[in-house]
Amino acid sequence: MKKRMIAATLLGLAMISGVYAESSVKTVAHRGYWNCEGSAENSLTALQRAYDAGCWGSELDIWLTADGELVVNHDPRTLDGLIIEDADFEAVTASKLKNGETIPSLKAYLEAGKKLSPMILVLELKTQSTPERNKKLARKVVAMVESMNMESQVEYIAFSHLVGSELIRLAPGAKVAYLNGDKTPAQLKSEGYTGLDYQAGVLKKHSHWIREAHDLGLSVNVWTVNKVDDLQYFIDKGVDYITTNEPVLLLDMLKKRR
Ligand code: MG
Repeated sequence: MKKRMIAATLLGLAMISGVYAESSVKTVAHRGYWNCEGSAENSLTALQRAYDAGCWGSELDIWLTADGELVVNHDPRTLDGLIIEDADFEAVTASKLKNGETIPSLKAYLEAGKKLSPMILVLELKTQSTPERNKKLARKVVAMVESMNMESQVEYIAFSHLVGSELIRLAPGAKVAYLNGDKTPAQLKSEGYTGLDYQAGVLKKHSHWIREAHDLGLSVNVWTVNKVDDLQYFIDKGVDYITTNEPVLLLDMLKKRR
């Protein structure tokens, strides 16, 4: 009996000190792992490198072209100046990334990602210029994920509440987190989100939202955390995911603490 009590006390202390929370933080490579030789943001190489590094997940950004196709890129313009929303799929996917690869279609990106299962793909749907295009983007992305039977390998994130609410409506059961930082956990819960994914400064300012979100069963992700001190801050706070440009650094910190 006495031994059991001691064990229970030690377990309690371990939990209070955050030992368990630390080891469960998931590493998400922001736009893939691009901060290394031969890689580039949102390239197929960055996706592969995120997997090779041992990331739990890899984030990517999705746009809708003028002719209604899906491509992976962060900025609204390509490096050679095409506005993705005004350009056709063929022109956008002929455009080069910084490492010389062409801009991938979402289809090509998902096909590559599927081979890297169980790494999770965190799909950010970029805010489009009109409500109609935002709805179309959500519809087309959900349909593509379903057609490829990848529902269990993706999670969704969006700044736009219109996009978020469409994702929640179209993909019940999917994980959908909100990025824009202006909603409380209680609001997000009532709107059907499964998590929040807020900028580091917002979560530091409202650090009580981490506990509030967890109490409501919401997941907590934070972006984009790259420095040791900041990574440590959020590890200690017990967030569920950290989105970073330095996934190898974070993975290393987590390993050392085990
Ligand atoms: Mg993004």
